[in-house]
Amino acid sequence: MDVTAHAEELLAPLERELHLTWWDVQVEATDENAARRAAAELAWSEALADGELFAAVEAKRATAPTRSLELLRNTMLPHQVPADLRARIVELEASVDVRFSRHRGVVGDVEVDDTGIKKILRRSDDVGERREAWEASKTVGAVVADDVRELARLRNEAARSLGHRDWFALSLAKDEMDEQKLQTTLAETDRATAEPFFRWKASLDARLATRFGCAISDLRPWHYADPFFQETPPDGAVDLDGYFDGPDVVALARRTMDGVGLDVDGIIARSDLYPRTGKNQHAFCVSMDRLDDVRVLANLVPTHDSAETMLHELGHGVYDRGFQDELSWLERTSHLVTTEASALFFGALAGSSRWLELVLGVDADELGALRSRLREARAAELALFTRWVLVMNGFERGLYADPDGDLDGLWWELVSRYQGVTPPDGRTAPDWAAKIHIAVAPVYYHTYLYGSIVALQLKDALDATVGPIVDQPAVGDFLRMRLFGPGQSVRWDELVERATGVQLSVASLEREVASLATA
Ligand SMILES: [Zn+2]
Repeated sequence: MDVTAHAEELLAPLERELHLTWWDVQVEATDENAARRAAAELAWSEALADGELFAAVEAKRATAPTRSLELLRNTMLPHQVPADLRARIVELEASVDVRFSRHRGVVGDVEVDDTGIKKILRRSDDVGERREAWEASKTVGAVVADDVRELARLRNEAARSLGHRDWFALSLAKDEMDEQKLQTTLAETDRATAEPFFRWKASLDARLATRFGCAISDLRPWHYADPFFQETPPDGAVDLDGYFDGPDVVALARRTMDGVGLDVDGIIARSDLYPRTGKNQHAFCVSMDRLDDVRVLANLVPTHDSAETMLHELGHGVYDRGFQDELSWLERTSHLVTTEASALFFGALAGSSRWLELVLGVDADELGALRSRLREARAAELALFTRWVLVMNGFERGLYADPDGDLDGLWWELVSRYQGVTPPDGRTAPDWAAKIHIAVAPVYYHTYLYGSIVALQLKDALDATVGPIVDQPAVGDFLRMRLFGPGQSVRWDELVERATGVQLSVASLEREVASLATA
């Protein structure tokens, strides 16, 4: 049998079982579901680790390369690490992950979780309490730092056994991302956002100095509204929750997708959308079989955030349902960047004035007053987020280049340079290790940046071809034909160029963020 047909026959049922058991354990976290999930995970990763199959894939690729073989190789590659090394990495990741879940910081002799810390940083006017909360948010770093360094060493060993420079390089290669292009894009992102960001931050700092009765030069990390200064502070955000009191968020999302000619009834029917005890508190979308069984898990309440979340997850869902029939099983997937772009594109609708008017029925006069504030909040969010990605990416590049280096120093150097936050005086602590993604979702942040850039490019392309996005069936046709349909039969960067008419570039992001400068 042909090697790709054989792989599909082997992998398709294993992946389906993996996703079904994943779904079950998120919906109801019983021991039995967890055990089924662990068994499915093991079977899946053993199949991908199969050295004989991998050798057959490589041999076939050398003589008769196809897109399906390429995708199969990329999926199998990270699993071709010696079994004992792979096991050590998985165990250490799990152990760090558990310590993150169990750890609580202490503020004023009371244990606080992340939500509690965030509440203090968003609301408290007591600088002493804020400082304690911020420091509490970092104590987990000291608990896991040595093991995160060890994880980086082990991951590097794994990457080198596969012929890559380090884990950073391997991660990009398996996701078909060009390292040179990434560095150029990040440098351009820095150039395009620095001026408007620092202008916006200067006015934020002035407000904070007034609020806390100190000089601007006395502002330290705990004066900002979240532990990493990665989210829009409450005083810049627009509170839309009042508009979401009545209407059902699911009905709004269905109405939005209907309006652009995308059918989501099948997805909604299979989904689990409202809060319940014992269920995962986050949101995600998963395709069980790369065919019709696509489901969303969410915890919707009547707020703007929930509307954005539902549209975001359906943005993933319509992608998964939009593959052309003739694609092979291996091609019936989406790249992380393009599916995230679709999700961000739809999620952003819930904060657009046209959607608020046409779908939610917000009064035109009220909307007039909101319009510029919405645009400003959106620009601030983008600027803040992209500066944060620059910190994360720069740090992880340094971490994998030298896991034994001065990482505490590197962290604060990057935070000062890109976010303009002054480090606490004389602090030496592994504050970087308090960011859970570095331990358990390594070298991933740039995909969020690429996703948001591509989402903006999509919006530009649609604006230019079919006009305003809400209630335009042509939007669905465009996305199905140009973005969703080809799956991964086309490499993601080529797909972006075909769908949006331009290569990935910071031009859309630059224009969007520039509106901050005039505020
Ligand atoms: Zn997403």
